[in-house]
Amino acid sequence: MAKDTIRVTFLGGLGEIGRNCLALEQDGRIVIVDAGLMFPEPTMYGVDIILPDFRWLIDRRDRVDAIVLTHGHEDHTGALRYLVKDVNVPIYGSALTLGFARHRLTEAKVAKDLTFIEVADGERRRIGPFEVEFIPVTHSVPSAHALAFHTKVGIVVHSGDFKLDLTPIDGRRTDVARLAAIGDEGVALLLCDSTNAEEPGFTASERSVGGALRRLFLERPKRRMVVACFASHIHRVQQIIDVAREQNRKIVLMGRSMETNVKLARKLHLLHVDTADFIDVENIDRFEPGEVCVICTGSQGEPLAALSKLSRGDARYLQVGADDTVILSSHPIPGNEWTVGRVIDDLHRAGTEVIHSGHEPVHASGHARQGELRMFHQLVRPRNFVPVHGEYRHMVHHADLALSMGLSEKHVVICEDGDQIEVTAAGIRRSGQVPAGFHYIDGSAGDLDEKPLEERRMLAEFGVLQIAAGIDRDRGVIRQPVRLTARGWFDGESDRDLITSVTTSVRDALESALRDGDRDESSLNKVAQRAAGRLLGQKFRRQPVLLAAIVVL
Ligand SMILES: [Zn+2]
Ligand SMILES: [Zn+2]
Repeated sequence: MAKDTIRVTFLGGLGEIGRNCLALEQDGRIVIVDAGLMFPEPTMYGVDIILPDFRWLIDRRDRVDAIVLTHGHEDHTGALRYLVKDVNVPIYGSALTLGFARHRLTEAKVAKDLTFIEVADGERRRIGPFEVEFIPVTHSVPSAHALAFHTKVGIVVHSGDFKLDLTPIDGRRTDVARLAAIGDEGVALLLCDSTNAEEPGFTASERSVGGALRRLFLERPKRRMVVACFASHIHRVQQIIDVAREQNRKIVLMGRSMETNVKLARKLHLLHVDTADFIDVENIDRFEPGEVCVICTGSQGEPLAALSKLSRGDARYLQVGADDTVILSSHPIPGNEWTVGRVIDDLHRAGTEVIHSGHEPVHASGHARQGELRMFHQLVRPRNFVPVHGEYRHMVHHADLALSMGLSEKHVVICEDGDQIEVTAAGIRRSGQVPAGFHYIDGSAGDLDEKPLEERRMLAEFGVLQIAAGIDRDRGVIRQPVRLTARGWFDGESDRDLITSVTTSVRDALESALRDGDRDESSLNKVAQRAAGRLLGQKFRRQPVLLAAIVVL
C-alpha cells in the first residue's frame, strides 16, 4: 500500500443487516470498527448466530491497535466474544456501549484480560495511527457515536447507526454543528448507515412513541398493560415507565436482559425511575390489572423470551388473558415476521388484546430515512462515499442519493463484504478482496461452514433413507438382509410396497455385484445407493437423501 493512502476492508454488514465490522488501515496499522453478529434465517437449521469471517484480521493481529464500538447493539458488538480470543486489543466506546458489551463478554467468560477504554461525547483521542473523534448521534440505544478518523488523506466519517432526532428522550441530539465543522475541515470518505435509504421523508422522533403509549394507556385504565420492546432500548423503557407512573401503575420487569440492562442504565444515570416503582413478578396478583404495567423482552418473537412464554402460558406467576393488553413496541426484523405472527396469534388465543406497530404508532425506527441522510451528506460533504449497513438494495438507493447530492460516479463505490478500497488525495478505488463469508456458530459445538448447512437443508426438505446390509466376504453373499430406515420421507412412511420394491432392487444390485467379485465396502455402498436412487428417481421428483451402510464382514 502506497504512502498517503488509507485502506478500508469491509468484513460484514454490507449486503445484510447484521455482523457489522470493518478495518481501517494507515501506515500498516489497523483499527477495527464494530464486531457484530447476525441472526440466522429460519432455513439455517441449527445455526444460532452468524459472525464475520475474522481470518483476515487474525492473520494481521500484530498490526491491530484497537476495536472501536459505535454503539451497544448486538449487530455491532455481538461477535466481540469470538474476536477477542484471537485479537486482544483495547476496546473503545461510550460507557453504556462498553457496559452492554462487557456484560456479554463476562457471561462468555472472556472479559478478564481485556482493556475497556471509556470515551465521552465529543472526545478526541489518539487510537493507533489515527486521531478519533466520538460524535454523539441519536439512535435506538442511548450513547451512540458517529466516528471521525483524522487521517493523512483527510477525515473519514463513519456515521454509525443514527437518525436525526431533534427531540430525543435524553436531550442528547446528534451533534450537527460538529459534523458541519468536520465537513469544513474536509472529509475524504463517508461511510454511512443505509438501513432506511429506501424510505422517503424523516423517521419519527422517539418521543412520538411516548405520545401513542400515553393515549393507549389512558384509554385502558382498568386493564393490565404489558409492553414488549428491545431490552437495549433504554429510551423506550423510560417512556413506558413514565406513562405507567403517571397512572400510578407499578412496574414489573420480565426477561433477564431487561432486568440487566435496566440495572446498568440506572447505574449510569441514563434511566430515571425510583426503586419503589417496581414490584417483583411474584407479587403481581396482589395488584388489580389497572395498577400494573409489565415491561418485557421478546418483541421479536424469540421463543425463549418473556413474551413468547406469556403467549404460551408458560410464564411463572403471570397468566395473560382477557384483562390484559399486550403492546409490541417494536417492528419485526426481516426474517422474524413469522415467529412474531405466531406469538400474536397465541396471545389472541388467550383472549388478550394485542396492539402492534402495524396499526398503532407504537414504534419508531432508529435509522435515518432519506431526508435525514441528505442532511447528513450535506453536513459532511464528503469527497468519496461508500454506503454501509444495509442489504444490497438499501446500499444502491443510498448511492443514488449521494449522486443526487452532487457526488460524481467515480467517487461513489458500492462495496460488499470482503471488498477493500483505498482512498488517496486523488480519489477512491477498489483495491482487493478478502474472505468474508458467513461464519456460522452452532451452539457450543463450534463452527459450521456452508457444506453441513446445505446438507441440513437437504435433510429438512427431503428426509433421509438409510440402506443397511451385511455382506459375507468369503462366501460373497448377503448375510444380514437389506434393511431400510426412513426419517422425514413422506412417500416412504406411507407406502409399504415402495419400501419392498426398493429393498428388492438394492438386494438384486448387491447380489449381482457380489457375483462379479466385488467385495469393496465403498464400492458396494455406491451400488446400493445407485440402485435405490434409480428406482426412486423413476417414481418421484423429490428423493430423500440416501445413506448406505453396507458392511463387509
Ligand atoms: Zn446496526
Ligand atoms: Zn444499531
